[in-house]
Amino acid sequence: MSDPTYDHVLAHPPRCLDPVRATPAPVIVQDRGEVSVAFRLTGLDGAQVGEILGYDLRDYNEHVDSYEFVSPLAVKWDGAAEGAVVFDSDIHGYHGELDCSAKIRGEGAPQVFACPACKGTRFAVFAQFDYDGTDELWDEDPDTVQNFFSNLIVSGRCASCGTETRVLDMDL
Ligand SMILES: [Zn+2]
Repeated sequence: MSDPTYDHVLAHPPRCLDPVRATPAPVIVQDRGEVSVAFRLTGLDGAQVGEILGYDLRDYNEHVDSYEFVSPLAVKWDGAAEGAVVFDSDIHGYHGELDCSAKIRGEGAPQVFACPACKGTRFAVFAQFDYDGTDELWDEDPDTVQNFFSNLIVSGRCASCGTETRVLDMDL
């Protein structure tokens, strides 16, 4: 797949990933956007797994009954004192970049995501960024195209039992 946006994002991951290391990974869900790019996230010091901190969507939307987190989403890598924020819908993604996000966002103390299969809390972390209609972005400011993703999927692979679970899935 050779697409200018795909190649660009691979070489320049979105700015929300600045606090972590991002290495290319297989996409989590096919055909989500015109272009999808996925990364495995690891700690800047090389930590491979960590706890995922965020906010249970069910606490903010009574119509939701699936276990899913909303942002701010952080990863507290093994050995780290604090979580590194990897996504905040207020400032990241298409509408966050334009300062007009209307997304539900967590407040207060974050929760630790727990594996639905074994309740384990340490995960290998993956993120998929989907892009639609980037032609205009290329005209306006080619250096920032990577930041204008229109959907984000974060998934975790449990370090204890290997189960892969969708942690966050949000159109932006
Ligand atoms: Zn598990």
